[in-house]
Amino acid sequence: MSNYKIETKCIQSGYVPSNGEPRQIPIIQSTTFKYDTSEDMGKLFDLEASGYFYTRLQNPTNDYVAKKLADLEGGTAGMLTSSGQAANFYAIFNIASCGDHVVASSNIYGGTFNLFSVTMKRMGIDFTFVSPYATDEELQAAFRPNTKALFGETIANPALSVLDIERFANVAHKNGVPLIIDNTFATPYLCRPFEFGADIVTHSTTKYLDGHGSGVGGAIIDSGKFDWTKYPDKFPGLCTPDESYHGVTYTERFGLEGAFITKATAQLMRDFGSIQSPQNAYLLNLGIESLHVRMERHSYNALKVAEFLETNPHITWVKYSGLPSDPDYPLAQKYFPLGSCGVVSFGVKGGRRAAEKFMKNLRLASIETHVADAKTCCLHPASATHRQMSDAELEAAGVSPDLVRFSCGIENAEDLIADIAQALEKAGE
Ligand SMILES: *Cc1c(COP(=O)(O)O)cnc(C)c1O
Repeated sequence: MSNYKIETKCIQSGYVPSNGEPRQIPIIQSTTFKYDTSEDMGKLFDLEASGYFYTRLQNPTNDYVAKKLADLEGGTAGMLTSSGQAANFYAIFNIASCGDHVVASSNIYGGTFNLFSVTMKRMGIDFTFVSPYATDEELQAAFRPNTKALFGETIANPALSVLDIERFANVAHKNGVPLIIDNTFATPYLCRPFEFGADIVTHSTTKYLDGHGSGVGGAIIDSGKFDWTKYPDKFPGLCTPDESYHGVTYTERFGLEGAFITKATAQLMRDFGSIQSPQNAYLLNLGIESLHVRMERHSYNALKVAEFLETNPHITWVKYSGLPSDPDYPLAQKYFPLGSCGVVSFGVKGGRRAAEKFMKNLRLASIETHVADAKTCCLHPASATHRQMSDAELEAAGVSPDLVRFSCGIENAEDLIADIAQALEKAGE
């Protein structure tokens, strides 16, 4: 499928039925798979033959969808996880363990920040957070001999800052580590981080990829480009025999194109089992079939809303990288010229209380922790997703107390603007 344009891939990649087979992806609702002989099954356990044996590790429905996502991102292999949290955990834990260190952008999703700074820290992995706007020198200063990866979000949730992927990739590669990009907000329709040097991409498929708020899920895609074998001491898990899998060396057996995802499946799915249900993978695929159409409308609506907010007297500031006045506009033009996704953030005059009053008066937009949905929704992060953070941490994550995250759906833009206008009038009373 690699020569087709992204719109065609959204529809056609992944599952390709043979003569007489179902046109739509079959939901393989089976925990297990049957074999004629124990020898046949033994080969699967030794990773000598590919095939399915237990849905805790792999399922054909998931693999059709993972293959489509890998094709959309321009990667060589992919896997679905039960959530975006699981995807980011696996992506890091696949190459870092107790005693290691990771450098991450400070402007990341609150759940990811917690995962890194609290839970993974308890596992002995240290994180250093740096501003996405850090200079190369500042970024370099965060690296240590035991650093195993650099991590950031294409468009940060909820700060909406844009990561200079190419620059971050260069610094990562100079230090012999991969750049892992959470591409949830941009989606492969708006931005494909591998084209700018990123090595691994993760997703919360819960957001735009599903697009209809119907299933929590995640994905990891490998570009197949990072040469682990150049740094065997840094990445022993990929470059030396895995005793828990009969001495297989992933890079030798599966090549650069397959090593990372095979290891994550064989070890992490086996031991943690955070797999997406085949039913949810089916729903995810339905969402992806309209991704290109939806992302265009999401981005159009968000730009219209941002333009309206920019001149509205009840608003103190607007953040949307698609606005020519936005400091991130040049980066957005470089990385996602087709649009800056549907999420706009802004401050309501009067601070925290005015923001809450504004949200209470919205009629179309509903208050949800969810984001990136066909239905418009909004959130006050300081009192919800980011409430575990101190003021200083909020500041570092680019989240001010008056910030409203407004996720434009694919309704009519004029209707959305009229709804915002009436709610702002009431908030200012
Ligand atoms: C929502 C989100 C996550 C976490 O994904 P879940 O599917 O909710 O586990 C990770 N990264 C980003 C950028 C997100 O928006």
